[in-house]
Amino acid sequence: MSVLVLVENIEGSFKKKSFELVQYAAAVASKMGAQATALVLGTCSNDAMAALGAYGAAKVLHVSDARLDKLSARAYTKAVVAAAGHTAAKVIVASHDVVGKTVAPQVASRLKAGLAAGAVSYPDTSNGFVIKRNVFAGKAFAFVNITSDIKVVTLLANSFQVAKAEGSCPVEALSVTFDDKDFAVQVKEVNKVSGSVPLSEAELVVSGGRGLKGPENWGVIEDLAATLGAATACSRPVADSHWRPHHEHVGQTGGTIRPNLYIAIGISGAIQHLAGVNGSKTIVVINKDPEAPFFKAADYGVVGDALEVTPKLNEALKKFKA
Ligand code: FAD
Repeated sequence: MSVLVLVENIEGSFKKKSFELVQYAAAVASKMGAQATALVLGTCSNDAMAALGAYGAAKVLHVSDARLDKLSARAYTKAVVAAAGHTAAKVIVASHDVVGKTVAPQVASRLKAGLAAGAVSYPDTSNGFVIKRNVFAGKAFAFVNITSDIKVVTLLANSFQVAKAEGSCPVEALSVTFDDKDFAVQVKEVNKVSGSVPLSEAELVVSGGRGLKGPENWGVIEDLAATLGAATACSRPVADSHWRPHHEHVGQTGGTIRPNLYIAIGISGAIQHLAGVNGSKTIVVINKDPEAPFFKAADYGVVGDALEVTPKLNEALKKFKA
């Protein structure tokens, strides 16, 4: 019996969310007296895969077919179902992102398994398999009990701190036979996001809204982000107005982030925006309107003009760092 965890192989390496997934799967496995097996699809070095042992994987199953280097829903589903059979998996864990959201429902359907999408907790196994998940774009939680024999869970990234660890685990090849139909729908191109810190991975995020007045003022956001080593984000109207690229847009219809620090500058704090950022550990708001709704969600707030306050904050932080 095992807990199988599908990790995302990004050109032969793994991001923080994969380490979090493996750590999560290992903790679920230990609750169930089982072991966590990580599944890696596509081209990857043995060393990179073995290092997943440091996060609790007892072993890695590797389906090395190079056609799996890019997401292909049907082929990925086939590989996960094969790996689940091979390891007698009782729980299958994937990320609640493009890969997991694409593959997990199909796997659940094939295995007649219940699915908890967007989980943010470990399962409570004292009376069933009860898991807490985000609903209504993060404004509420639901507790769902998965009663099927096999359970499928997609985990919302940044739900848990990742503990750095040492160690490695064995890697075993798994052979899966694919046919051309399995690759009928394929990702053709992945556009890489520029910027030194990817937003989804960032511990610190500086974000701007319509209160910045226009793209010509974004220097204050970028300067502050550079001082902090933070990623930059924005509200939806900012992306819709092409002041900033769409991948920076956070909220209900954008990215969901959970950094340690979220600095919101000139953003009103509409519920649709909060849905993407209200998991941040500390929220700092700079807004000229003391009645701005964002202040209700803030840990620290500054009432003032963004274009005056932000450069001053930046100068103060630079002095602090020096
Ligand atoms: P505004 O609402 O215009 O607020 C600007 C703020 O800046 C105000 O609070 C103002 O007091 C302040 N300000 C103005 N000048 C200054 C200054 N000089 N210094 C300091 N502060 C200043 N929005 C998202 O962000 N993400 C989403 O994913 C999203 N999804 C949506 C989905 C749906 C279905 C709908 C209907 C809406 C969605 N929205 C989303 C839009 C959302 O409702 C808000 O309209 C949006 O978040 C407002 O963006 P904003 O705060 O940048 O702009």
